[in-house]
Amino acid sequence: MGPPQTGIFSIQPVRPTGCRFRTRCPLYVTLAAPQRPICETTEPAMTESPAGVGHRAACHHTGRG
Ligand code: SF4
Repeated sequence: MGPPQTGIFSIQPVRPTGCRFRTRCPLYVTLAAPQRPICETTEPAMTESPAGVGHRAACHHTGRG
């Protein structure tokens, strides 16, 4: 164990750009390269899901998983 860390550092988590789930999304890693940029740049809106009435999802690729 080394010496204690000193200095100023942020304890704020770094939120990814685009979809907030991108860094831990199992669907994102399976997407083809042309389908990924929208996840990386644009936060998806909450919409009705094809899973059924009353189900909502915020995903650019809803219905693919
Ligand atoms: S938009 Fe959908 S596919 Fe893309 S990172 Fe978010 S949850 Fe995953």
